[in-house]
Amino acid sequence: MSTLYTPSRESLAELLDGEPRYRLDQVWDGLYTQLAAPAEITNVPKALRERLAFALPNALTQQVRRVSDGGDTVKYLWSLSDGSRIETVLMLYPDRVTVCVSSQAGCAMACGFCATGQAGFTRQLTVGEIVEQVVVAARDARTMGRRLANVVYMGMGEPMANLPAVWESVERLHGAIGLSARHITVSTVGIVPGIRTLTEKQLPVNLAVSLHAANDELRDELVPINKRYPLDELMEACAAYLEAKGRRLSFEWALIAGVNDRVQDATELAKLCRRFRLPAHVNLIPLNPTPGYPTVGSAAAAVARFHRSLVDLGVNATIRRNRGTDIDAACGQLAAGQPVVTTSVVLSSGRAPSDKG
Ligand code: SAH
Repeated sequence: MSTLYTPSRESLAELLDGEPRYRLDQVWDGLYTQLAAPAEITNVPKALRERLAFALPNALTQQVRRVSDGGDTVKYLWSLSDGSRIETVLMLYPDRVTVCVSSQAGCAMACGFCATGQAGFTRQLTVGEIVEQVVVAARDARTMGRRLANVVYMGMGEPMANLPAVWESVERLHGAIGLSARHITVSTVGIVPGIRTLTEKQLPVNLAVSLHAANDELRDELVPINKRYPLDELMEACAAYLEAKGRRLSFEWALIAGVNDRVQDATELAKLCRRFRLPAHVNLIPLNPTPGYPTVGSAAAAVARFHRSLVDLGVNATIRRNRGTDIDAACGQLAAGQPVVTTSVVLSSGRAPSDKG
Protein backbone atom coordinates (compact mmCIF):
# COMPACT_ATOMS: atom_id res chain seq x y z
CA MET A 1 0.00 0.00 0.00
CA SER A 2 1.17 3.47 -0.81
CA THR A 3 1.70 5.69 2.21
CA LEU A 4 2.74 9.33 2.57
CA TYR A 5 6.46 8.82 1.99
CA THR A 6 6.21 5.94 -0.48
CA PRO A 7 6.01 7.74 -3.84
CA SER A 8 9.15 8.85 -5.59
CA ARG A 9 9.07 12.34 -7.07
CA GLU A 10 8.03 10.81 -10.40
CA SER A 11 5.15 8.86 -8.85
CA LEU A 12 4.01 11.93 -6.97
CA ALA A 13 4.03 13.83 -10.26
CA GLU A 14 1.64 11.23 -11.66
CA LEU A 15 -0.60 11.62 -8.65
CA LEU A 16 -0.63 15.38 -9.21
CA ASP A 17 -1.47 14.99 -12.88
CA GLY A 18 -3.78 17.81 -13.94
CA GLU A 19 -2.37 20.24 -11.37
CA PRO A 20 -0.06 23.10 -12.40
CA ARG A 21 3.53 21.87 -12.64
CA TYR A 22 4.79 23.95 -9.70
CA ARG A 23 2.51 22.04 -7.31
CA LEU A 24 4.92 19.11 -7.41
CA ASP A 25 7.71 21.31 -6.05
CA GLN A 26 5.42 22.75 -3.41
CA VAL A 27 4.25 19.37 -2.18
CA TRP A 28 7.69 17.74 -2.35
CA ASP A 29 9.24 20.67 -0.51
CA GLY A 30 6.40 20.65 2.03
CA LEU A 31 6.85 16.94 2.76
CA TYR A 32 10.63 16.72 2.80
CA THR A 33 12.06 20.17 3.51
CA GLN A 34 9.44 21.56 5.83
CA LEU A 35 8.63 18.07 7.18
CA ALA A 36 4.98 19.12 7.02
CA ALA A 37 1.89 16.93 7.05
CA PRO A 38 -0.26 17.38 3.92
CA ALA A 39 -2.76 19.52 5.87
CA GLU A 40 0.08 21.87 6.81
CA ILE A 41 1.28 22.51 3.27
CA THR A 42 -0.77 25.68 3.19
CA ASN A 43 0.61 27.07 -0.05
CA VAL A 44 -1.39 24.48 -2.00
CA PRO A 45 -5.21 24.60 -2.23
CA LYS A 46 -7.18 22.92 0.52
CA ALA A 47 -8.86 20.46 -1.86
CA LEU A 48 -5.47 19.19 -3.01
CA ARG A 49 -4.22 18.89 0.57
CA GLU A 50 -7.26 16.79 1.36
CA ARG A 51 -6.81 14.65 -1.73
CA LEU A 52 -3.19 13.99 -0.77
CA ALA A 53 -4.03 13.13 2.82
CA PHE A 54 -6.64 10.68 1.56
CA ALA A 55 -4.51 9.06 -1.15
CA LEU A 56 -1.37 8.90 0.99
CA PRO A 57 -2.15 8.05 4.60
CA ASN A 58 0.55 7.89 7.24
CA ALA A 59 2.23 4.50 7.58
CA LEU A 60 2.95 4.72 11.29
CA THR A 61 0.48 4.85 14.16
CA GLN A 62 2.11 5.71 17.46
CA GLN A 63 1.57 3.13 20.19
CA VAL A 64 4.15 4.31 22.68
CA ARG A 65 6.56 7.20 22.96
CA ARG A 66 8.92 6.86 25.89
CA VAL A 67 11.64 9.21 27.00
CA SER A 68 14.63 7.91 29.00
CA ASP A 69 15.32 9.21 32.47
CA GLY A 70 18.02 11.55 31.23
CA GLY A 71 15.70 12.77 28.49
CA ASP A 72 18.30 12.19 25.79
CA THR A 73 16.75 9.07 24.26
CA VAL A 74 13.25 8.72 22.87
CA LYS A 75 11.79 5.39 21.82
CA TYR A 76 8.75 5.07 19.60
CA LEU A 77 6.73 1.94 19.12
CA TRP A 78 4.63 2.07 15.97
CA SER A 79 1.94 -0.15 14.58
CA LEU A 80 1.71 -0.55 10.81
CA SER A 81 -1.40 -0.95 8.68
CA ASP A 82 -1.31 -4.76 8.98
CA GLY A 83 -0.82 -4.66 12.75
CA SER A 84 2.93 -5.36 12.69
CA ARG A 85 4.94 -3.36 15.17
CA ILE A 86 8.29 -1.70 14.79
CA GLU A 87 10.43 0.61 16.86
CA THR A 88 12.48 3.74 16.22
CA VAL A 89 14.94 5.40 18.60
CA LEU A 90 15.89 9.08 18.62
CA MET A 91 19.18 9.93 20.34
CA LEU A 92 20.07 13.48 21.33
CA TYR A 93 23.78 14.07 21.87
CA PRO A 94 25.29 17.42 22.80
CA ASP A 95 26.71 17.85 19.31
CA ARG A 96 24.36 15.83 17.10
CA VAL A 97 20.99 14.16 16.78
CA THR A 98 20.74 10.62 15.45
CA VAL A 99 17.79 8.42 14.64
CA CYS A 100 18.03 4.64 14.64
CA VAL A 101 15.50 3.17 12.21
CA SER A 102 14.04 -0.28 11.66
CA SER A 103 14.32 -1.84 8.22
CA GLN A 104 12.13 -4.91 8.78
CA ALA A 105 9.33 -5.94 11.12
CA GLY A 106 11.26 -8.60 13.03
CA CYS A 107 14.41 -10.21 11.69
CA ALA A 108 15.30 -13.59 10.20
CA MET A 109 18.99 -13.54 11.16
CA ALA A 110 18.37 -15.29 14.49
CA CYS A 111 21.29 -13.86 16.47
CA GLY A 112 20.59 -15.41 19.86
CA PHE A 113 21.58 -12.36 21.94
CA CYS A 114 19.29 -9.96 20.06
CA ALA A 115 15.67 -9.46 21.11
CA THR A 116 14.52 -8.90 17.53
CA GLY A 117 16.32 -12.06 16.42
CA GLN A 118 14.65 -13.99 19.22
CA ALA A 119 11.22 -12.85 17.99
CA GLY A 120 11.73 -13.87 14.35
CA PHE A 121 10.77 -12.31 11.04
CA THR A 122 7.41 -10.76 10.20
CA ARG A 123 7.85 -8.79 6.98
CA GLN A 124 9.86 -6.30 4.96
CA LEU A 125 9.25 -2.61 5.54
CA THR A 126 8.38 -0.41 2.58
CA VAL A 127 10.38 2.67 1.66
CA GLY A 128 7.49 4.77 2.99
CA GLU A 129 7.61 3.05 6.36
CA ILE A 130 11.37 3.58 6.66
CA VAL A 131 11.36 7.22 5.54
CA GLU A 132 8.44 8.10 7.79
CA GLN A 133 10.41 6.96 10.86
CA VAL A 134 13.07 9.54 9.99
CA VAL A 135 10.60 12.33 9.22
CA VAL A 136 8.67 11.85 12.44
CA ALA A 137 11.85 11.73 14.51
CA ALA A 138 13.20 14.83 12.75
CA ARG A 139 9.98 16.66 13.49
CA ASP A 140 10.13 15.59 17.12
CA ALA A 141 13.76 16.76 17.34
CA ARG A 142 12.70 20.08 15.85
CA THR A 143 10.13 20.62 18.61
CA MET A 144 13.06 20.18 21.01
CA GLY A 145 15.01 22.85 19.16
CA ARG A 146 17.37 20.32 17.57
CA ARG A 147 18.15 19.33 14.00
CA LEU A 148 18.35 15.69 13.07
CA ALA A 149 21.27 15.06 10.74
CA ASN A 150 22.26 11.42 11.31
CA VAL A 151 20.51 8.20 10.45
CA VAL A 152 21.67 4.72 11.43
CA TYR A 153 19.97 1.59 10.10
CA MET A 154 20.47 -0.24 13.38
CA GLY A 155 16.92 -0.74 14.57
CA MET A 156 14.88 -3.88 14.03
CA GLY A 157 15.75 -6.01 11.03
CA GLU A 158 18.64 -6.67 8.68
CA PRO A 159 18.95 -3.80 6.18
CA MET A 160 20.81 -5.93 3.62
CA ALA A 161 17.93 -8.42 3.58
CA ASN A 162 15.62 -5.59 2.44
CA LEU A 163 18.09 -3.72 0.29
CA PRO A 164 15.80 -2.36 -2.47
CA ALA A 165 13.55 -0.52 0.02
CA VAL A 166 16.48 0.40 2.27
CA TRP A 167 18.47 1.85 -0.60
CA GLU A 168 15.51 3.79 -1.96
CA SER A 169 15.03 5.24 1.53
CA VAL A 170 18.72 6.21 1.69
CA GLU A 171 18.39 8.02 -1.62
CA ARG A 172 15.26 9.79 -0.42
CA LEU A 173 16.93 10.91 2.81
CA HIS A 174 19.84 12.20 0.80
CA GLY A 175 18.07 13.64 -2.21
CA ALA A 176 14.84 14.95 -0.69
CA ILE A 177 15.58 15.65 2.97
CA GLY A 178 19.15 16.66 2.18
CA LEU A 179 21.03 14.46 4.64
CA SER A 180 24.66 13.91 3.82
CA ALA A 181 25.69 10.35 2.87
CA ARG A 182 28.46 10.79 5.41
CA HIS A 183 25.79 10.95 8.09
CA ILE A 184 23.97 7.81 7.03
CA THR A 185 25.15 4.43 8.34
CA VAL A 186 23.91 1.08 7.12
CA SER A 187 24.56 -1.70 9.60
CA THR A 188 24.73 -5.33 8.61
CA VAL A 189 25.11 -8.69 10.28
CA GLY A 190 27.51 -9.45 7.43
CA ILE A 191 25.52 -10.26 4.30
CA VAL A 192 28.32 -10.26 1.76
CA PRO A 193 26.26 -9.84 -1.45
CA GLY A 194 24.58 -6.81 0.17
CA ILE A 195 27.95 -5.24 0.95
CA ARG A 196 29.02 -5.88 -2.63
CA THR A 197 25.83 -4.25 -3.95
CA LEU A 198 26.43 -1.23 -1.72
CA THR A 199 30.00 -1.03 -3.04
CA GLU A 200 28.58 -0.41 -6.50
CA LYS A 201 26.20 2.35 -5.42
CA GLN A 202 27.14 5.94 -5.93
CA LEU A 203 26.28 7.35 -2.52
CA PRO A 204 29.14 6.63 -0.13
CA VAL A 205 27.28 5.83 3.08
CA ASN A 206 29.06 4.52 6.17
CA LEU A 207 29.12 0.80 6.64
CA ALA A 208 28.87 -0.85 10.03
CA VAL A 209 29.41 -4.58 10.39
CA SER A 210 28.21 -6.41 13.47
CA LEU A 211 31.27 -8.56 13.99
CA HIS A 212 31.19 -9.70 17.66
CA ALA A 213 33.73 -12.46 17.01
CA ALA A 214 36.99 -12.70 15.06
CA ASN A 215 37.04 -16.45 14.46
CA ASP A 216 34.50 -18.50 12.53
CA GLU A 217 33.85 -21.00 15.29
CA LEU A 218 32.62 -18.40 17.76
CA ARG A 219 30.98 -16.22 15.13
CA ASP A 220 29.01 -19.20 13.75
CA GLU A 221 27.55 -19.50 17.22
CA LEU A 222 26.82 -15.82 17.87
CA VAL A 223 25.78 -14.78 14.37
CA PRO A 224 24.39 -17.82 12.53
CA ILE A 225 24.58 -16.20 9.05
CA ASN A 226 28.36 -16.47 9.45
CA LYS A 227 28.02 -20.10 8.32
CA ARG A 228 26.86 -18.78 4.94
CA TYR A 229 29.26 -15.83 4.76
CA PRO A 230 32.34 -16.71 6.80
CA LEU A 231 34.83 -14.16 8.08
CA ASP A 232 37.35 -14.26 5.22
CA GLU A 233 34.67 -13.50 2.66
CA LEU A 234 33.17 -10.84 4.88
CA MET A 235 36.53 -9.14 5.44
CA GLU A 236 37.26 -9.17 1.71
CA ALA A 237 33.92 -7.51 1.01
CA CYS A 238 34.64 -4.90 3.71
CA ALA A 239 38.07 -4.19 2.26
CA ALA A 240 36.55 -3.72 -1.20
CA TYR A 241 33.94 -1.36 0.22
CA LEU A 242 36.58 0.70 1.97
CA GLU A 243 38.69 0.88 -1.13
CA ALA A 244 35.79 1.96 -3.31
CA LYS A 245 34.31 4.52 -0.91
CA GLY A 246 37.06 5.75 1.35
CA ARG A 247 34.35 5.90 3.97
CA ARG A 248 34.40 5.02 7.58
CA LEU A 249 34.03 1.33 8.30
CA SER A 250 33.04 0.31 11.77
CA PHE A 251 32.81 -3.02 13.50
CA GLU A 252 30.20 -3.44 16.21
CA TRP A 253 31.27 -5.61 19.09
CA ALA A 254 28.77 -6.39 21.85
CA LEU A 255 30.87 -7.56 24.78
CA ILE A 256 29.53 -10.76 26.30
CA ALA A 257 31.02 -11.78 29.64
CA GLY A 258 33.53 -14.60 29.23
CA VAL A 259 32.51 -15.18 25.60
CA ASN A 260 34.19 -12.51 23.48
CA ASP A 261 35.72 -10.11 26.00
CA ARG A 262 39.02 -11.83 26.74
CA VAL A 263 42.43 -10.48 25.85
CA GLN A 264 42.80 -13.29 23.32
CA ASP A 265 39.59 -12.10 21.59
CA ALA A 266 41.08 -8.61 21.28
CA THR A 267 44.32 -10.06 19.90
CA GLU A 268 42.39 -12.11 17.35
CA LEU A 269 40.39 -9.07 16.25
CA ALA A 270 43.55 -6.98 15.86
CA LYS A 271 45.11 -9.77 13.77
CA LEU A 272 42.05 -10.00 11.57
CA CYS A 273 42.09 -6.23 10.92
CA ARG A 274 45.79 -6.38 10.12
CA ARG A 275 45.48 -9.36 7.82
CA PHE A 276 42.89 -7.62 5.66
CA ARG A 277 44.51 -4.17 6.07
CA LEU A 278 41.28 -2.82 7.49
CA PRO A 279 41.63 0.45 9.37
CA ALA A 280 38.26 -0.18 10.98
CA HIS A 281 36.86 1.57 13.98
CA VAL A 282 35.57 -0.81 16.62
CA ASN A 283 32.52 0.20 18.65
CA LEU A 284 32.33 -1.60 21.97
CA ILE A 285 29.13 -1.95 23.95
CA PRO A 286 28.49 -4.32 26.80
CA LEU A 287 25.72 -6.69 25.72
CA ASN A 288 22.32 -5.41 26.73
CA PRO A 289 20.09 -7.84 28.57
CA THR A 290 17.30 -9.53 26.58
CA PRO A 291 14.75 -12.06 27.80
CA GLY A 292 15.92 -14.98 25.65
CA TYR A 293 19.67 -14.94 26.26
CA PRO A 294 21.24 -16.18 29.47
CA THR A 295 24.74 -14.66 29.28
CA VAL A 296 25.28 -11.14 30.57
CA GLY A 297 27.17 -8.17 29.23
CA SER A 298 30.77 -7.62 30.30
CA ALA A 299 31.37 -5.68 33.48
CA ALA A 300 32.92 -2.23 33.21
CA ALA A 301 36.41 -3.47 34.12
CA ALA A 302 36.34 -6.13 31.39
CA VAL A 303 35.10 -3.57 28.86
CA ALA A 304 37.96 -1.24 29.81
CA ARG A 305 40.49 -4.07 29.58
CA PHE A 306 39.26 -5.13 26.15
CA HIS A 307 39.37 -1.55 24.97
CA ARG A 308 42.91 -1.06 26.25
CA SER A 309 44.07 -4.29 24.60
CA LEU A 310 42.72 -3.15 21.24
CA VAL A 311 44.25 0.30 21.51
CA ASP A 312 47.60 -1.19 22.55
CA LEU A 313 47.44 -3.37 19.43
CA GLY A 314 46.87 -0.31 17.26
CA VAL A 315 43.13 -0.78 16.70
CA ASN A 316 40.85 2.25 16.92
CA ALA A 317 38.11 1.55 19.42
CA THR A 318 35.48 3.47 21.34
CA ILE A 319 33.39 2.38 24.28
CA ARG A 320 29.77 3.30 23.62
CA ARG A 321 27.37 4.16 26.36
CA ASN A 322 24.29 2.00 26.29
CA ARG A 323 21.52 4.46 25.85
CA GLY A 324 17.93 3.87 26.66
CA THR A 325 18.33 0.68 28.71
CA ASP A 326 15.74 2.05 31.13
CA ILE A 327 13.17 2.29 28.33
CA ASP A 328 14.14 -0.94 26.52
CA ALA A 329 15.49 1.16 23.69
CA ALA A 330 19.10 -0.02 23.81
CA CYS A 331 20.83 -1.99 21.05
CA GLY A 332 19.27 -5.39 20.60
CA GLN A 333 16.39 -4.64 22.93
CA LEU A 334 13.95 -3.66 20.22
CA ALA A 335 11.29 -6.34 20.09
CA ALA A 336 7.73 -5.56 19.22
CA GLY A 337 6.40 -8.17 21.60
CA GLN A 338 8.00 -6.67 24.66
CA PRO A 339 6.80 -3.07 24.81
CA VAL A 340 3.19 -4.06 24.25
CA VAL A 341 3.28 -5.23 27.83
CA THR A 342 4.97 -1.97 28.72
CA THR A 343 2.13 -0.09 27.03
CA SER A 344 -0.50 -1.58 29.24
CA VAL A 345 1.65 -0.85 32.27
CA VAL A 346 2.02 2.75 31.16
CA LEU A 347 -1.69 3.06 30.51
CA SER A 348 -2.84 1.42 33.70
CA SER A 349 -0.46 3.35 35.91
CA GLY A 350 -1.48 6.57 34.22
CA ARG A 351 1.98 7.98 34.02
CA ALA A 352 5.23 6.08 34.30
CA PRO A 353 8.20 8.14 35.52
CA SER A 354 10.02 7.93 32.20
CA ASP A 355 6.91 8.29 30.06
CA LYS A 356 6.36 11.60 28.42
CA GLY A 357 4.26 10.31 25.54
N1 SAH B 1 20.80 -6.38 11.57
C1 SAH B 1 21.71 -5.28 11.60
C2 SAH B 1 21.20 -4.03 12.27
C3 SAH B 1 20.38 -4.16 13.53
S1 SAH B 1 21.17 -4.60 15.03
C4 SAH B 1 23.02 -5.71 12.20
O1 SAH B 1 23.12 -6.83 12.65
O2 SAH B 1 23.96 -4.94 12.18
C5 SAH B 1 22.13 -3.25 15.54
C6 SAH B 1 23.32 -3.66 16.41
O3 SAH B 1 22.89 -4.07 17.72
C7 SAH B 1 24.09 -4.83 15.85
O4 SAH B 1 25.45 -4.56 15.96
C8 SAH B 1 23.69 -5.96 16.76
O5 SAH B 1 24.60 -7.00 16.76
C9 SAH B 1 23.61 -5.24 18.07
N2 SAH B 1 22.90 -5.97 19.12
C10 SAH B 1 21.91 -6.85 18.98
N3 SAH B 1 21.51 -7.32 20.19
C11 SAH B 1 22.27 -6.68 21.11
C12 SAH B 1 22.32 -6.72 22.53
N4 SAH B 1 21.50 -7.49 23.22
N5 SAH B 1 23.22 -5.93 23.15
C13 SAH B 1 24.04 -5.12 22.43
N6 SAH B 1 24.03 -5.04 21.10
C14 SAH B 1 23.16 -5.82 20.44
